[in-house]
Amino acid sequence: MSTVIIKKASYDYNVLRPVVLEILNSTCGDIIHKKSRVIIKPNLLAPAPPEQAIVTHPLIIKAVAEYVLDKGAVPQISDSPAVGSFQKILKESGITEALAGLNVVYKEFRESAVIDIGEPFKKIEIAEDAVSGDILINLAKLKTHTQMLLTLGVKNLFGCIVGMKKPEWHFRAGVDREKFAALLVKNFQAVRPAVTIIDGILAMEGQGPGRSGTPRELGVILGSSDTVAGDIVVCRMLGLEPHSLLTNKIAQEVNLYPEKITIDGELPEIKNFKLPEITPLVFGPQRFHGYFRRHLVQRPECDDSVCKLCGECWKYCPAKAISPVKKKIRFDYDKCIRCYCCAEVCPHGALSVRETLTGKVARKFLKM
Ligand code: SF4
Ligand code: SF4
Repeated sequence: MSTVIIKKASYDYNVLRPVVLEILNSTCGDIIHKKSRVIIKPNLLAPAPPEQAIVTHPLIIKAVAEYVLDKGAVPQISDSPAVGSFQKILKESGITEALAGLNVVYKEFRESAVIDIGEPFKKIEIAEDAVSGDILINLAKLKTHTQMLLTLGVKNLFGCIVGMKKPEWHFRAGVDREKFAALLVKNFQAVRPAVTIIDGILAMEGQGPGRSGTPRELGVILGSSDTVAGDIVVCRMLGLEPHSLLTNKIAQEVNLYPEKITIDGELPEIKNFKLPEITPLVFGPQRFHGYFRRHLVQRPECDDSVCKLCGECWKYCPAKAISPVKKKIRFDYDKCIRCYCCAEVCPHGALSVRETLTGKVARKFLKM
């Protein structure tokens, strides 16, 4: 049986701190020892202030770091951001300021350990620190995700794959969302956090997880030593069938799905949470998959009036499907695998994911 703690909270530190301590006491209080090396893995997607709901709130990280220090252990804050430098993110997200004076180690994930995660992926490179620390504390942000519906506990750990290896793995999973979800679950199994806390105080709805998403206050924080259970409870809270989050579906297939979940606290019912529209990436007879993907599947589009030609999208695109042409960015939709990473990493919110007209008509006709 798995327990998920869910509490009302705000970013008032006097309210937040006791809630975080309660979660940590009941999940990993007994396993953090003096001198334990505790890796704290927040969501540090990109440089962004807390009010944009892109990164885990700095006060949650502070409460966790203080707890670890009180135990006489060594807190290390690590991630491998998709956009911007690690130092810039720490500064712009308010982490440096919030944790000033605390004896924490800041270390970007850079070196990888090669881990065999089994078929079909076999060997993948996971941040050495994520697997060599004594304890991993996973601090996810509750956000929508244009490709995977939501980014919660399991998905947050994809940040343990270092730098440009992330888009490489996106490319290897290709257009198959279930395959990518399987990779996320295997990665989670390899790093196995002791506890996952999900920051849903200021969450993100709409076209997350980057600047195209919309912050929405939910006022809740969740924690569990069972990451999958936490993700399932978030789905229930948002009125979603848990298997609509593909990592939950895969978790069931590989026996990681909890038989029973006990809720410690009150599960609120969140109404009208705006999800990204997820349409199938492959459908119809196999020989037409390429054609259908090109013409019918939602694709990234750029608002040229917002684009600053900063290059983050074309540097990150795993399919090399973006290029600057005559001071505008252009997509090669034949190459594009519809991973929507570009919209995720655009620091200016210039990219959004749009349905094609033919796609709309076809889906109506086919009732998809
Ligand atoms: S679309 Fe966004 S990431 Fe790409 S070049 Fe323009 S501003 Fe930069
Ligand atoms: S253009 Fe965007 S959606 Fe297409 S493959 Fe590149 S990053 Fe992914």
